[in-house]
Amino acid sequence: MMALSENLKAAPTIGYFEHGDDKPKVNPAIDGTLCPYCGDGLTRANLRTVSVMAITNALGITTTPQRCYFYRVHRTCAETASPALAQKADEIAMGILQTN
Ligand SMILES: [Zn+2]
Repeated sequence: MMALSENLKAAPTIGYFEHGDDKPKVNPAIDGTLCPYCGDGLTRANLRTVSVMAITNALGITTTPQRCYFYRVHRTCAETASPALAQKADEIAMGILQTN
């Protein structure tokens, strides 16, 4: 279990598109998914998708993945989150990807 910073309430739940597809291959249900910023459940009325653009592997090499990963947060949380918190969420999302 990865430790979260004290301001990040839940680990991002990650989905992805295969390269070139227009529908997600893995598309986590919105119902039951927690916003990493506040820890509350997501709703369709208050939703923002955050793309995870690049992955840095254990050797420090950054690659553009064949899969396009994303996670979801509340739109209202995204608008008020500090850059540091948003970066932390990205780092945790990438950490989850690296261990899969
Ligand atoms: Zn939230």
